[in-house]
Amino acid sequence: MAFLELKEVRKSFAQNVVVQHFDLAIERGEFVSFLGPSGCGKTTTLRMVAGFELPSSGSITIEGKDITHLRPNQRNVGMVFQSYALFPNMTVAQNVAFGLKVAKWQAADIGPRVDEMLNIIKLPHLAERYPYQLSGGQQQRVALARAIAVKPQVLLLDEPLSALDAKIRVSLREEIRSLQRKLGITTIYVTHDQEEALSMSDRVVVMNEGRVDQVGVPFDIYNHPTTRFVANFVGTLSVLNGKVVDAGTVDIAGQRVSVGRGLGSAAAGADCAIALRPEVATLEGFGGQGATMNTADLATRNRLTGAIEDVAFLGSVVRIKVRIGTDLLSLDTFNNPGVTPPERGTAAVVTFSPADVLVLGK
Ligand code: ATP
Repeated sequence: MAFLELKEVRKSFAQNVVVQHFDLAIERGEFVSFLGPSGCGKTTTLRMVAGFELPSSGSITIEGKDITHLRPNQRNVGMVFQSYALFPNMTVAQNVAFGLKVAKWQAADIGPRVDEMLNIIKLPHLAERYPYQLSGGQQQRVALARAIAVKPQVLLLDEPLSALDAKIRVSLREEIRSLQRKLGITTIYVTHDQEEALSMSDRVVVMNEGRVDQVGVPFDIYNHPTTRFVANFVGTLSVLNGKVVDAGTVDIAGQRVSVGRGLGSAAAGADCAIALRPEVATLEGFGGQGATMNTADLATRNRLTGAIEDVAFLGSVVRIKVRIGTDLLSLDTFNNPGVTPPERGTAAVVTFSPADVLVLGK
């Protein structure tokens, strides 16, 4: 039995169905992200787990106990919001103590628990400050401490880092994940930021228009997307349109490309699309090296001729866009201080392994 289960959960607001056929089983201690574009139903699903929304149908259980219709304060879940939602008239310590009082902890236990939480989030020296005297990152750490102080069975985080600037976001990401691991607390994390989801999660649930599109470990979500939507939403992807030649070959702008798998029984001459991640392709004759270039497969690599249309120097990586027929193919090479990036407008040959070609389905 899974620790937390959503079964056939559906939610509509009036005629508008915003979540449907939502099935998910989460193990104890797992860190799961809901990832998807704005409006795909992530927050609504999280709010149903928290008890702020009732499903129109379906059930939610924790350790086998049906909590679908329990009020938020009757279920043992902690939640952190994007907007921090600290009480402005309470100090940091009072904010963290608040939930403990509501949960009717013994007065003598509350002080030590607050101290413990403030130590965990490394802010014991700010106990007497008010929220307006804290930075955004500090406020969010206090909100996190308040949520976990009551020892919830499940921690729910709704885009907790999206209001913070980039550097703090990355460091808090690591802090949240290491805290979650240390406490072993089952966590659902809502985000539309794929890097956040991939870097933090045990498993990622990719949502699209109220449905689960794919559930998997970050490696598989990125490398083996099962739908066109997931392939496009997660990571950068170049799509090249072409026609099927046979079970292992497609024609892209008059050039043959071998594909490892995915064409199935597609008929010769049918329209198809292949896709490539920028790190699997390399530019022949260019001294920079693609991240996953494997010299063992040189003989079997595909070669596509095109013209360099754009060169973006991103620091550690140089992203090059090559026009192949009507489509653009992006590829990344590592920066090499000894090699000047190629010029726009020059002819180029892009190489990539058949095994790295994604054939896009539905
Ligand atoms: P975002 O990342 O923008 O927060 P989301 O994936 O979390 O998006 P939700 O907030 O769950 O999406 O919203 C899903 C859909 O449900 C949206 O179309 C939204 O307008 C609608 N919706 C959410 N709450 C309500 C409500 N209380 N009444 C009516 N419609 C709602």
